[in-house]
Formats: sequence, structure tokens, C-alpha cells
Amino acid sequence: MNWDEFQHWGEHISKWAADYHKDIRNNPVRAQTDKGAIAAALPASPPEGGEAMDAIMADFERIVMPGITHWQHPRFFAYFPANAAPPSMLAEMLVSTIAAQCMLWQTSPAATEMEGVMVQWLRQALGLPDGFSGVIQDSASSATLSAVLTMREIASGWRGNKEGMSGQGCLRIYCSDQVHSSIDRACWVAGIGQDNLVKIGTDGSGASYAMDTEELQSRITQDRAAGYIPAGIIAITGGTSIGAYDRHHAVLEIAKREGLYTHLDAAWAGSAMICPEYRDEFWAGVEGYDSIVFNPHKWLGAQFDCSIQFLRDPQHQINTLKIEPEYLKTAGEAVTNYSEWTIPLGRRFRALKLWFLLRSYGLEGLRERIRNHVDWAHALAARLEAHPKFEIVTQPILSLFTFKVTGMDNAAQLDFVERINNDGRIYITQTRVDDAVAIRFQIGQFDCTQDDINAAYDVLCELAEAS
Ligand SMILES: *Cc1c(COP(=O)(O)O)cnc(C)c1O
Repeated sequence: MNWDEFQHWGEHISKWAADYHKDIRNNPVRAQTDKGAIAAALPASPPEGGEAMDAIMADFERIVMPGITHWQHPRFFAYFPANAAPPSMLAEMLVSTIAAQCMLWQTSPAATEMEGVMVQWLRQALGLPDGFSGVIQDSASSATLSAVLTMREIASGWRGNKEGMSGQGCLRIYCSDQVHSSIDRACWVAGIGQDNLVKIGTDGSGASYAMDTEELQSRITQDRAAGYIPAGIIAITGGTSIGAYDRHHAVLEIAKREGLYTHLDAAWAGSAMICPEYRDEFWAGVEGYDSIVFNPHKWLGAQFDCSIQFLRDPQHQINTLKIEPEYLKTAGEAVTNYSEWTIPLGRRFRALKLWFLLRSYGLEGLRERIRNHVDWAHALAARLEAHPKFEIVTQPILSLFTFKVTGMDNAAQLDFVERINNDGRIYITQTRVDDAVAIRFQIGQFDCTQDDINAAYDVLCELAEAS
């Protein structure tokens, strides 16, 4: 392809992109394809000769698009959002055009320096004090794994990386039973093991499902007496299932007393902390954590992937992950090389989309969206609660609540979710609360309007009444 053809197709694709988004409400939210249909439409072997771009693009529309679930659909109420605000998409077009690999300062100083500044912009936006620095990772899972590896290295006297884990005693990490599965996997991969991730119960009866800190303290004390080595505590603000959130002061007091490294998973709810009015309830004391992760690629509007890990003292994580073979050494003054802060060496230029996003909307523009989502979630939950066909299982935490259809067993609840998603006008998913199926509803898509929420209420009522 020459650059004139590139320009032609670039213009075509940017028009295609705008048309796709203008028309997105006319698509079913969740893909309606049968298993295997897309793979069957693709040739089993690669072409020997080159093909024309218009044939490739036509097949993209014919084969690929029917198999897409539309995450940017305003009636996407499943999982959590993966918002891609238009300015962040444009920034990604520039990033993929420049196609720089930003592992070291010298491999693109602009990427490293902008990353440092964007981390500081977001630190201020979230109300964190001076002194936190941070790094942009691909995902919260990677940030959590980095934090767990740091816990492991500190607790093993920096011997884990060198000697392996077999002689290091039995390390333990503590969290509540509401954490995301990425915490379990981090403990698997770090050689800590599932059995040594101690899950503490929550105060389920209160609205917050916060970790029971008395139980936390007594498990740590018992474990020390039994010869285990406590290595760290992982807390949450906004758990994935129902939005559970821990009490930071109580967790951190124990961590301090026990000398434990701490990590906070705020992957989803962190974005809402740009609104100062939510901080008293969800954020008080947060400045005491060693590591905090939140995903601008969820609610904030930075196109996937973009996860910020704030670090109170990055040196612990750098000591854990930095490796410097001769071919990565650089001459001259000391600089920040962010690949020393993370597990992958290669790095995309992720800061640019944050810069475009934050400048284009301003914090006020982003706050307005988040506030609407939270208010609409409370109003919708109240409407469903008043309807005889529905019961609220967990009240809204920010913009997430769970409900069920009255009088249905677990299998019938799951069947109801499937019927909603086959209908296609909205998309929702399920979870379990106290072992029973509950239907999750979260509001967070960037272009969602009050009309979309009313439409969702109508669809839920229509299908519940028909069952
Ligand atoms: C989404 C989510 C994660 C995982 O995020 P990735 O960036 O996909 O790894 C972790 N924790 C919580 C609370 C989440 O909501």
C-alpha cells in the first residue's frame, strides 16, 4: 500500500467510524451470532497473493461487524463500561500512525514525559495528595500483579526473584471475599498460591460489603503464630459484583501495625472520584495506600487500554521489576524509563489519549456524565423496586445495583438475562449475591441519555411481564 492509498482509506475509515457511531442505537447491543459462524466465514489458510483494500474492507463489514458486541452502545449496561470518547479515539489513531515503542525515555521522550504529567493530572483529579507518582499500565490485572510481586519481594527480603519461592516460607495476602478475580490470578502467577490468598468476610448487612477488619486482624495474628508470613493487604473501592467498598482507615491501621504493603483496587469506581462529593464515602484515607489502581479505560472515557497505577514510593516496585541488560542501558543523565516499573518491556504511547480526553471535555465535562449515571442508577433502582415484578437485591453503589425478577429461581433469573440479551435492545449480565443469582445493572456508557434509561425500564418490564 502506498501513502496515497493510505490517505484514501484513512478518509474512508474515519467516515465509516462516524457513521457507525451515529447509527449505533440501531444495532442489537450484544452480538447475535452463533458460535463458530465468524470462524467459518474466514478462509482456513492465508492468501498467497495480496488482495485489494476494497475487498478487505467489504469483508470486514460482511464478516466481522455482525460478530461485534457494541461496547459503545448507549444501552450497554453489562459488566462495566469500556468507554472510548471520540477525542481519545482520535489520539489512538495518531498513536497507531506514529507507532512508537515507548519502553525507555529515549525511545520517545514525549511519551515518557507526557505520561508523567498525565499521572499527575489524574492524581489531582482524584484528590490524591502530592507525593504519589505512577505509571500507565495496560490493565488493572497487570497493576495488581505488579503490586503483588512487590509484596512478595519485600516480604521475602528481596530473595524471591533471585532464589525462587520454594525456600521463602509461606507468604500470605489478605483481601475481602468481594475482590475481582485478577487478585486471585496475581497470587497464582506470583507463586503465592490460591490457598494463601486469605479472603475475609464482609459486613454484608451494611450497604457497603466492606471487609470485616476485626476478622482481618485476627487472621493475621493467627497466621503469624502458625508460621505464615503475611505479605500484604489488597482493598477495594467498587468491587465488580455489586460495588463493595472497604473502609480505608480501618484497613490501613492494621497494615501499619503489621508492617504490610497495601494495594487498592479501584479499577471501576476510581473514575467517579473526580467528583469531590463521592470522596467522603468511598475515598477517605486513601492516601495511606502504597499502590492504587484505577482504569480510565472503564468509566472515564479513555479508549481501552489505559490503567493508572499510583505509587507512594515507586522504588519498591522498581526494585522488584527493573532489569537492565546491556542492550537497554542508555547514556547521559538519569531519566525515567517506565518499562522498569512494569512487567512488559514494550509500551504503547497511552498518555496521548488521556491528554486529548482531559483537554477536550475538561474535568467538569467528565464529572457531569458520571453524576448523571449515578443519579439515573438510583432513580431506576427506585422505579424497579416499586414495580411488583422486581426486587432490588443490592442498592446502588455509585451507578451499579442488582435486582431480581420476583418469584423466579436461579435458573429462571439466568434465563431472563438471556432473553433480554437475545432481544438486543439492552445488554445486562448477572452475578451472585449470597449464593443466589442477581441481575447486575450498571450505567456508565459515555453517550447514555435519560431516554436510554427509560427504554431500559420499558424493556425490563415488557419481558418480565411476558414471562
Ligand atoms: C474491571 C476490573 C478489574 C480488571 O480490570 P482489567 O483492566 O481488565 O484487568 C479489576 N478489578 C475491578 C474492581 C474491576 O472492576
